[in-house]
Amino acid sequence: MEEFDVCVIGGGMAGASVAYYLAPHARVLLLEREAHVGYHSTGRSAALFSPQYGSLTIRRLTAATSHFMTSPPAGFAADALLTPRGFMMVGTDAQREALEKLQSLADATGSPLIRLSADELRARVPVLRPGIFDWAALDNSAMDMDVNAILQGFLRGARGHGAKVATGEELLALERQGALWRARSTSLEFKATIVVNASGAWADEIAACAAIAPLGLTPNRRTAFNFDPPAGTNVASWPMIIDAAERFYFKPDAGRLLGSLAEEEPSAACDAQPDDLDVAVAVDRIEQVIEFPIQRVVRAWAGLRTFSSDRDPVSGFEPTTTGFYWHAAIGGYGIQTAAALGHFAATRILGQPAPGYLMDTGFAEGDLDPSRLR
Ligand SMILES: Cc1cc2nc3c(=O)[nH]c(=O)nc-3n(C[C@H](O)[C@H](O)[C@H](O)COP(=O)(O)OP(=O)(O)OC[C@H]3O[C@@H](n4cnc5c(N)ncnc54)[C@H](O)[C@@H]3O)c2cc1C
Repeated sequence: MEEFDVCVIGGGMAGASVAYYLAPHARVLLLEREAHVGYHSTGRSAALFSPQYGSLTIRRLTAATSHFMTSPPAGFAADALLTPRGFMMVGTDAQREALEKLQSLADATGSPLIRLSADELRARVPVLRPGIFDWAALDNSAMDMDVNAILQGFLRGARGHGAKVATGEELLALERQGALWRARSTSLEFKATIVVNASGAWADEIAACAAIAPLGLTPNRRTAFNFDPPAGTNVASWPMIIDAAERFYFKPDAGRLLGSLAEEEPSAACDAQPDDLDVAVAVDRIEQVIEFPIQRVVRAWAGLRTFSSDRDPVSGFEPTTTGFYWHAAIGGYGIQTAAALGHFAATRILGQPAPGYLMDTGFAEGDLDPSRLR
């Protein structure tokens, strides 16, 4: 029976990034149930790197990931991982509170917010109906991410240091035997000193497999879809536009537009499918603020954003047993935080000090501890 130092369960961004940082120091096996890595949440995101998004802890993790994204290690990816996009919140006078909140969060992270008048907004995104929005705030530090390049870069790096990446391998049984975990997947039986639970929406189920109490992590479905701008309209320079009540957003996506209802619909862990009604409501809300009809939904999809009760990720050892590491509940931020979060997890697992560049943001080692959720 093959033996590993660490078995990572899940071939999404969370599992791939941890494996990348662990592989130079440990014998790593990464298990992915699906035939392809990134099949679930990781392959279904809006691909936005937004320093102004999420809790303070998320902003710290995002800020700490920024350097990796702009200057990845040599050979990590052929092209840039980030390209300029911008994130713009739009609102009415009745929604000034949202603007103030956004401004105070921007001040806390030191990212400048550019205020646009209604005329400047129209000049920037000419399809927006006049007279609807009274203000707009643009964060130019938001970028588009090449999610596939990031995922493949992590996995290539992990493999390059000897990690074994096994797809089509579902973890089926996990049992503590002495100092090791004994595990069985679709076609493998193996032992590992440490198990990393990076299984996204299935994280509580994987814990149950190891007779560990759940943390109460909730997968939430979010639907997205592509539609075409009016013929001849070049949308490439538009930022992502989100309304102050977060009732919809849309952004350029490879020559088309990507829209979403920005909903959070609690779901079982599953292969999430788009809900026709959510698509229709999002189309309606977006049509109310743009000057062209959405003729056709080109493609719709859905993914699960898994949250803990305080909406911050969980990354730390389970206190009730030995060698079980939680790395999940990364909500809607799992790509933009991947490098710092994966590196942090690897240092905890290896018993090393947390990365200095992360601690410099004000992040504290206990911030993501699983015990805070029990
Ligand atoms: C519509 C939408 C928009 C989003 N937009 C953004 C964005 O703009 N920016 C951003 O940073 N994030 C965004 N996110 C969030 C981001 O996609 C997630 O935070 C991230 O992908 C989570 O990664 P993960 O590895 O934890 O989960 P996943 O990618 O779901 O990976 C978990 C993996 O574990 C595997 N697994 C489960 N059980 C087992 C088992 N028993 N054995 C083996 N393998 C198993 C699954 O098959 C799965 O592949 C968005 C998400 C959605 C749905």
